[in-house]
Amino acid sequence: MNKPNIVILGAGYGGIMTTVKLQKKLGVNDAHITLVNKHDYHYQTTWLHENAAGTLHQDRTRLPIKDVVDFSKINFVQDTVVSFNPDEKQVILENGQLDYDYLVVALGFEAATFGIPGLLENAFTINNINSARLIREHIEYNFAKYNNEAEKKQERLNIVVGGGGFTGIEFVGELANRVPELCKEYDIDRSQVRIINVEAAPTVLPGFDPALVEYAMNALEAKGVEFKVGAMLKECTPNSIIIEKDEKREEIPTNTTVWAAGVRANSLVEESGLEVNRGKVEVQADLRAPSHPEVFVVGDCALIMNEETGRPYPPTAQIAIQEAEVAAHNLAILAGGGSQLETFAYNDRGTVASLGHDDAIGVVFGDKKLFGWSASVMKKVIDNRYLLKLGGLGLLLKKGKFNFFG
Ligand code: FAD
Ligand code: NAD
Repeated sequence: MNKPNIVILGAGYGGIMTTVKLQKKLGVNDAHITLVNKHDYHYQTTWLHENAAGTLHQDRTRLPIKDVVDFSKINFVQDTVVSFNPDEKQVILENGQLDYDYLVVALGFEAATFGIPGLLENAFTINNINSARLIREHIEYNFAKYNNEAEKKQERLNIVVGGGGFTGIEFVGELANRVPELCKEYDIDRSQVRIINVEAAPTVLPGFDPALVEYAMNALEAKGVEFKVGAMLKECTPNSIIIEKDEKREEIPTNTTVWAAGVRANSLVEESGLEVNRGKVEVQADLRAPSHPEVFVVGDCALIMNEETGRPYPPTAQIAIQEAEVAAHNLAILAGGGSQLETFAYNDRGTVASLGHDDAIGVVFGDKKLFGWSASVMKKVIDNRYLLKLGGLGLLLKKGKFNFFG
């Protein structure tokens, strides 16, 4: 094969990092590289909870793809992938189709609603720029409407967040900071507003360091967040949610349910006919699909088992970025006619979760626990490091977070 056709689907962490690395490794005479993405911008999914709460504008989170991808080397196609067929080596887009020799599937995640009645129709999810902006505007609208109705409706001021995993906790952390500002703006007493986090497990952040979980819960409760742990969200209607705890059901009036209780891979992966495990492709050590050696899968669409725990590594930006580097390396080898591919080994650098812009918890460097200001600084350092890696100093200075003192 001379000058292979490489197609990359999705410009999230996995897709854009694969592209940026490839454009450094291969020249225009080595391969024809196409990047397909729904929008002409890349966004940092890890900041979407801030956009959803309204503590950070979405234009800080997204950046034009042309700012980091060299369009003289990469053919960028702004379009939506409708399907891809690994047997035919073909991708169907809303406005065309593409053939490939090598494919990188980096289409990210979608919300997993587990068939819970009413969730798809009535709940919001923090999935992308548009869904995050909708949540922010919806909350603001409800606050604005509250004092303009003769009959005051408490459901306008109750915000329910389903799931106390990292997404749910980071989101209520932002809300806890944002709600007092909204109250001031819309003449509402803070005590009238409820932020309720519902978690099915006996504690939020199940499996995370217990002392840090306790710190997080105390910090958030002090800012007025209510936790309902050991409580399953069972149903969502336009004006309420139903939860079940100790076999007792409770209905909470709310116009705003944000579902943050789980993700699955983009369903196009399962629909493609690639063999899946829990909706994801369990990739080989070189990140290729076992049944189709010309298909690489990275990020939330890929599943890699942690041999130590016997469970899959959680889907994170951290692992997506590391996978992208190996996928790009291996594609460059294949494009050059080689066959000795690198194997992927995950380097777990730890986890840091924000509790608003001024507080955080984390475990880094193996077992070092962080909380408060130092964890919050660490979170920003991690975010800034990504920007530096993606687009150098220029991008870091343009988009980085430097508000280290609150
Ligand atoms: P994504 O980054 O989601 O990118 C997918 C891309 O594909 C997007 O650009 C999308 O527009 C595009 N796309 C999707 N469908 C189509 C289509 N049909 N056609 C064309 N384009 C399409 N992980 C961490 O490591 N640290 C964190 O602090 C962290 N915080 C998080 C906070 C929140 C609020 C959330 C929701 C997740 C967080 N995660 C974090 C998890 C992390 O964001 C994901 O694991 C990561 O985004 C996965 O990267 P990806 O490249 O697979 O997908
Ligand atoms: P998750 O799967 O990690 O957590 C979902 C939570 O919802 C779980 O605690 C689960 O018990 C709960 N839940 C499920 N069904 C429920 C129900 N019916 N009622 C109430 N609770 C229910 O999902 P997530 O928080 O969206 O995270 C997705 C991925 O993104 C994870 O891999 C996570 O590590 C990663 N992430 C990382 C960070 C960070 O590192 N700072 C931040 C956000 C997300």
